[in-house]
Amino acid sequence: MNWTVQSQSALSDAPAPPLLLQAAWDAVRAREAWLRSPFFPALFSFGSYLAACAPFVALDVLSARLPALQRYKIQPQASPSAGLLAACLARSLFDHLVCVFPVTVAHWYWRPVRLPERAPEAPRLLLDLGAGLLLFDALYFLWHLLHHRVPWLYKTFHKVHHKHVSTFALSTQYSSLWELLWLGLFAGLVPVLLRCHPLTEMAFFVANIWLSVEDHSGYDLPWSTHRLVPFGLYGGSLHHDLHHLKFKFNYAPYFTHWDRLFGTLSPAGREEPAPAKATKD
Ligand SMILES: [Zn+2]
Ligand SMILES: [Zn+2]
Repeated sequence: MNWTVQSQSALSDAPAPPLLLQAAWDAVRAREAWLRSPFFPALFSFGSYLAACAPFVALDVLSARLPALQRYKIQPQASPSAGLLAACLARSLFDHLVCVFPVTVAHWYWRPVRLPERAPEAPRLLLDLGAGLLLFDALYFLWHLLHHRVPWLYKTFHKVHHKHVSTFALSTQYSSLWELLWLGLFAGLVPVLLRCHPLTEMAFFVANIWLSVEDHSGYDLPWSTHRLVPFGLYGGSLHHDLHHLKFKFNYAPYFTHWDRLFGTLSPAGREEPAPAKATKD
């Protein structure tokens, strides 16, 4: 992860950021030595991923003892075993060591971290965050569609991610190194293209990881993002679980507009009776 800095002249003309964001940014900058460490990007990436997965792994463990939780599972019959969770975790750790860490160190070397004094304005942070998620969604949609439409690309690079036909949080990053590198490239490129403040970049990175894990959580919870965003604009875990089950439809990771435009949005309801409850909105 590399953080660009806005010009001092532009910052000096900007209105003062809200106290809350400045306090948060000051707290981040107080750990400057950590932020400047070549280890930080890979640790931040892996730590954010584990933190996002933890509540869903806890739900998986609890749901085995509390049947009431099963009603929130998209495929109630499918539950990852402890061995499967451990294997996915080990693979993620290995991928971060052999792939994410070397790439982020190279990035850190070529584009050293710089940290401006001022926090971003809150509306600007929210605007950039929304724009960043939309841009990432578009980039991954195109990549994903291409890797399903070209059989060689699917078999060589994307098939690994489709090993699990029922999703669970730790299956999020169960992918080929090729796919992980492209996802990392998109996630790193988006804040640079949008000239995001470093705090916005952190927020985008965490939100992106959370949403990708929620996509693969296998749960349809009352507070899931697709239930909070109106008008069916957001697909989320229901749409992505169906993608894993059917190997088609719903190529965009988050929003539904690209699949609507390309005619690849799943029809209402699952195509055939799923061993789960009726899931589609
Ligand atoms: Zn796919
Ligand atoms: Zn997936």
